[in-house]
Amino acid sequence: MALKQLVFSGVQPTGNLHLGNYLGAIVKFVELQKSHDCIYCVVDLHAITVWQDPVELPHAIREVTAAFIAAGIDPKRHIVFNQSQVAEHAELAWVFNCVARMGWLNRMTQFKEKAGKDRENASVGLFAYPTLMAADILVYRATHVPVGEDQKQHLELSRDIAQKFNNDFGDSIRTHGFGDAFFPQPEPLIQGPAPRVMSLRDGTKKMSKSDPSDQSRINLTDDADTIAHKIRRAKTDPHPLPHEEKELAQRPEADNLAGIYAALARIGKADVLKQFGGAQFSTFKDALVELLVARLAPLNAEMRRLKDDPAHIDSVLADGAARAQKIAGETMKAVKDIVGFVRR
Ligand code: ATP
Ligand code: MG
Repeated sequence: MALKQLVFSGVQPTGNLHLGNYLGAIVKFVELQKSHDCIYCVVDLHAITVWQDPVELPHAIREVTAAFIAAGIDPKRHIVFNQSQVAEHAELAWVFNCVARMGWLNRMTQFKEKAGKDRENASVGLFAYPTLMAADILVYRATHVPVGEDQKQHLELSRDIAQKFNNDFGDSIRTHGFGDAFFPQPEPLIQGPAPRVMSLRDGTKKMSKSDPSDQSRINLTDDADTIAHKIRRAKTDPHPLPHEEKELAQRPEADNLAGIYAALARIGKADVLKQFGGAQFSTFKDALVELLVARLAPLNAEMRRLKDDPAHIDSVLADGAARAQKIAGETMKAVKDIVGFVRR
């Protein structure tokens, strides 16, 4: 059976959306709307794998939704919703918990990074995070998943889970008329303007919402002064910018700032160096601030406007959830038949 091309991706409501989320994910989400049917999810079930304040969480969910819409995602033509409104995500994740192997999950680097030294004290949810992510994608039998580079390993695990489910239940899948494979192998779409934006404080660490230092990231809600302050304080090395792109290889901070500039200006890093090679960082940083403010200010204003009307955002999410649930419900019925559950 030929599966329709369908895009799925999610963003966690875990704090301040930043430039990495925007350039690594949201810009691609917007672009893919032209060529694909798209489902974009605010993954609140993922968010609670680490502690979230119940007073803050609904605001964070609405903020990510506002960012999606402000960036240009059309919730009428595509689907935008928050994960906890479609129970099938959690339901399929349980089945996948029983398909995935401990050994597979033990290799996940995000768990190791997020759990840190105190692994015994991490939530079971944080460990099982990738099986829920596989369920998010596969409950829609989505074929394409735009993500930043940090999610590559989780996507590979989703593919392994889909394949093992198709193999383990192969006879039942055929008996129920689904052909040779029920789930597709979802393709990661990692290439984009900036698949890995790094921290402004440490060019070897990715920019993250959960980084305790606000100086490490540019938030989509930062005003012009804050952006200028953060970029001027951003870590650099003592040398001027190089002329050749290959010379960025040993200079993570210079590479990151040049990459951010290139992504925002929609040019290559080599072109950035053509313009700024030999310049001091202070000169380059001024130009970068100008570009950042020009790109983020309209987004920022639109997000603020949308957040002033939470009832509208909630209605967008409710409408999206109802449409998502129709698809997810059909998948779960089939999965129950394939696994052998008795259902109404
Ligand atoms: P957290 O620290 O809570 O995990 P996060 O900043 O990693 O937050 P997520 O919600 O986990 O954000 O990820 C949303 C999307 O943004 C994913 O597709 C992820 O790959 C992408 N992304 C996150 N950080 C970066 C980054 N620094 N550069 C490029 N893409 C990124
Ligand atoms: Mg993350």
